[in-house]
Amino acid sequence: MSNKPQARAGIMELSPYIGGEGRVGAGITPVRLASNENPLGCSPLAREAYAATASDLHRYPDGAAAGIRQAIADKYKLPVDNIVCGAGSDELIALIMRAFVGVGDEVIYSQYGFLMYPIAAKVVGAKPVAVVEKDFTTDIDGVIAAVTPKTKVIILANPNNPTGSLMKRAAIKKLIDAVDRSVLIVLDAAYAEFVEDADYADGTEFVVAHDNVVMLRTFSKIHGLAALRLGWGYFPLEVAGAINRVRGPFNVSVPAQMAGVAALKDDAFVAQTIAMTKTGLAQLHQGLNTLGFKTLPSAGNFILVHFGAEAEKIRLALRDRGVFIRQMGAYGLPEYLRITVGTQDDNARLLAALKEIVN
Ligand code: PMP
Repeated sequence: MSNKPQARAGIMELSPYIGGEGRVGAGITPVRLASNENPLGCSPLAREAYAATASDLHRYPDGAAAGIRQAIADKYKLPVDNIVCGAGSDELIALIMRAFVGVGDEVIYSQYGFLMYPIAAKVVGAKPVAVVEKDFTTDIDGVIAAVTPKTKVIILANPNNPTGSLMKRAAIKKLIDAVDRSVLIVLDAAYAEFVEDADYADGTEFVVAHDNVVMLRTFSKIHGLAALRLGWGYFPLEVAGAINRVRGPFNVSVPAQMAGVAALKDDAFVAQTIAMTKTGLAQLHQGLNTLGFKTLPSAGNFILVHFGAEAEKIRLALRDRGVFIRQMGAYGLPEYLRITVGTQDDNARLLAALKEIVN
């Protein structure tokens, strides 16, 4: 027996999730392209709503988050009882694992799927099962083949971070039809708003029709509210009931709830963000390809780029110039770096710094 508290088996072997860097010394204006944040900030309506909460910080939030859930329900024309909010979709991912997955169970994800999936699975003592990707894209047949009697959850990002790849409606349908109804299928649509493909499905239509499909969304990206931690899920009623039983009673803060409601009213800000991302992506593809770097097609607000053996050196040289992009070693992609789409100026600064470094 050890004479000190011991974390549960496996916890200390976890590699903690490390967010993107972005802090610089005084006098340098950083270009922060490491965390898929919104370079335009957030809606002014959201900022006002956030500021207005300052006088009431001694009050607990509404534990049911009724206002923000109703605003989401109205915006997306969904039944409010099927919506549960979380402190970011990160929390919802963890809550899904806590409610549906136990020690020894299996959680299937795609090889380059969002890093929090295997971490959240391991936290509850489960085994994350990575399905090898084909051309940096989720292999749906591989996912189906990986299902065993121990599989409790399949979790896939669509579009996927960090690859930017997309699963089309038909692929999702194939997966849902092939998998036993006891397996919970989680479609993480954190970047849904950026997608232009007509064959894309965020998952909404499948949640309606199946008791074992859920969709996750976030206010961190398109709405630029990453600091506040606000995500939501559209769940079958029984799944929502389970999540509501395991979540903290006040898991979403008042500022997050209020700013979220206001953000949903600002369609102009959303449209501006989408337009900026589209032109920015084109600017980055073109600029990076001209410099000789291979880019992957992306349906999100970021781009995965092959830099080869010099990737980390290049990342550090960019950092020295105040430009932050994301290393991909934790995803098993050390030769790649992920770049969030910035404003036109941000992208130009990145490309200019890169040109200076490689020349
Ligand atoms: N899912 C995916 C695919 C993501 O890329 C992210 C953010 N990096 C999240 C979920 C978590 O977002 P948040 O917790 O900020 O809502």
